[in-house]
Amino acid sequence: MIKKSHRSQLKKWVQIASLLIAIVMASASLSAKGKSQMIDKRLFGRLEDGHEVYQYTLKNASGMHVSIINFGAIVTNIFVKDRNGKFADVVLGYDSLQSYVNDKSYFGAIVGRYGNRIGKGKFTLDGHTYQLSINDGENQLHGGINGFNKKLWAAEPIESDSSPALRLTYVSPDGEEGYPGTATLVVTYTLTPDNALRIDYEGQTDKPTIFNPTHHSYFNLSGSFTNTILHHQLMIEADSTTPVDSELITTGSIVGVAGTPMDFRTPTEIGSRIMDRYQQLIFGRGYDHNWVLRDYSGKVRKAAEVYEPGSGRVLTVFTDQPGIQFYSGNFLDGSAKGKGGVAYQYRTGLCLEAQHYPDSPNKPNFPSVVLRPGETYHQTTIYQFSTK
Ligand code: BGC
Repeated sequence: MIKKSHRSQLKKWVQIASLLIAIVMASASLSAKGKSQMIDKRLFGRLEDGHEVYQYTLKNASGMHVSIINFGAIVTNIFVKDRNGKFADVVLGYDSLQSYVNDKSYFGAIVGRYGNRIGKGKFTLDGHTYQLSINDGENQLHGGINGFNKKLWAAEPIESDSSPALRLTYVSPDGEEGYPGTATLVVTYTLTPDNALRIDYEGQTDKPTIFNPTHHSYFNLSGSFTNTILHHQLMIEADSTTPVDSELITTGSIVGVAGTPMDFRTPTEIGSRIMDRYQQLIFGRGYDHNWVLRDYSGKVRKAAEVYEPGSGRVLTVFTDQPGIQFYSGNFLDGSAKGKGGVAYQYRTGLCLEAQHYPDSPNKPNFPSVVLRPGETYHQTTIYQFSTK
């Protein structure tokens, strides 16, 4: 027999315990709700072979949101505030999957296996010469005819209250576009609480190969894609560039920027010198060059900053890469009908592509892009938004 006083004590304990359980369950469901609001998933379209492509939208507590599709690991939208708190999309792109399938500008994509150009699409590794596919005159550009930007990636959302992320994986078969080795690339996009889109890359191979993926968003911070980027101000943490020939293949030299229109060591309006009769600008039809970033040691450091005076938006780029390609959208010609039916005209977007120097496989004096079995390729690049 349990005594009456014991029974009432037991009853009290049972009440306390059930109260505690209720509190734990309520807070669990609340935090689950909070988390599920951080990543949204919707069907974006179907590829010709029937595969479904999804769009994932990552949101942070201050309302910034970034949308990514698992075709091409493409960033389709980045909504950030201007200095008055008004949100606008700051990357060029399309509304439909079919437009991304047809796209020739690499809007928002992860490009690879090798971002930028390889002269004649040829390189020699361990005594063996490899011929890659050719898709840019006599050269290879951005991984070939069907690069990583045209592939379906496996997507895995990573829920988090503060930093939602999307992990995307693509396995590139041995011989794809002429590259040796089965190469696996895992790209993780993370939206941070301080309004940065962080991109972490990890790559592996089962045979010696070359590896140099990059990210190809076209930014326009003004809030309207009918504005050019010519009034954006740019600063690049670099004292030199890797000049190119008329086919935009690096010559192998590294030349100081001082006294040239390539000097962005202090913030400078992009349009102020872009029409100068300077040989490199003529070859590039504007800016389309690799800058040699200071302090390459494998650590993430500031690489560039863009400021758009009208909106007050600032984009700061950080990376651990040795170089950055600044491309001023010189090949945009109004033929690409973008979001909301807007035609993307000449120089309405700019790319800042963190990378190894173009044509490194054929330039022994440039840092190596060789990846061997057992090694892991790493890259971290951060696009952080703020206002002033
Ligand atoms: C290259 C340009 C090229 C563009 C493709 C850039 O990364 O530097 O030369 O035309 O990508 O859209």
